[in-house]
Amino acid sequence: MIHLTNVTKIYTQNNVTALEDVSLDIERGEFVFLVGTSGSGKSTLMKLLMREESVTSGGIIVDGKNVVSMPQNEVPYLRRALGVIFQDFRLLEDRSVYENVAFAMQVIEAPRQLMQKSVGAVLEIVGLSERAKDFPSQLSGGERQRVAIARAIVNNPRIVIADEPTGNLDPETSWDIMDIFQRINAAGTTIIMATHDKNIVDHMYRRVVELEHGKIVRDEIRGSYEKFINKYPVAGVRS
Ligand code: ADP
Repeated sequence: MIHLTNVTKIYTQNNVTALEDVSLDIERGEFVFLVGTSGSGKSTLMKLLMREESVTSGGIIVDGKNVVSMPQNEVPYLRRALGVIFQDFRLLEDRSVYENVAFAMQVIEAPRQLMQKSVGAVLEIVGLSERAKDFPSQLSGGERQRVAIARAIVNNPRIVIADEPTGNLDPETSWDIMDIFQRINAAGTTIIMATHDKNIVDHMYRRVVELEHGKIVRDEIRGSYEKFINKYPVAGVRS
């Protein structure tokens, strides 16, 4: 589904090597946490997947498409295969919940009937059917993030990329958001999520890829946030 081969990214403006010789394969339907300290290269990796930045060297295939050699006019099609979610929600403040989600379908000129059906269905998934007419300013942080998730999945992307989606939320609300991600993943969508949230990573038992200074230093199928915990396969239990 996603294949990075010897990817290096150097920002030429400041000569920073954000990623160095990174190779990573993510299969269809996987749920992958991307962890690492601030500045380790997580956002850069995600931006390369959606061609918001270009590689300095190496190869990237996303959903069968060669992202590196792709002409600029094909990039919008790549992005349609991806649902992207950010820490700061990025909603349109002057549009209702319904309109925020519908906007993602208007961009691809979806027929009105399909739009109404799909927006209704995703608002149901994130539990906001009753709030369709509200504006973002009337919502809590967790509700705003649920709108952002609805918007990200309304066009049925095969891959969801989430950059610190729970970074602005309290622990309980964060779990509501993770519950939605679990359900989206269970329906077959591949999820890559960058996070600093140790508690979430430790309790989800999903694949964990750790970056350090732009290199992959750990890749575990059912990992936890901290390396030492992995000495004990069942969290907290010492044999
Ligand atoms: P993370 O998401 O793990 O915090 P980033 O991918 O944002 O890490 O950053 C990796 C490194 O690349 C950092 O040293 C950062 O300062 C640098 N960097 C990120 N974006 C840019 C940019 N647009 N221009 C120059 N340097 C950047």
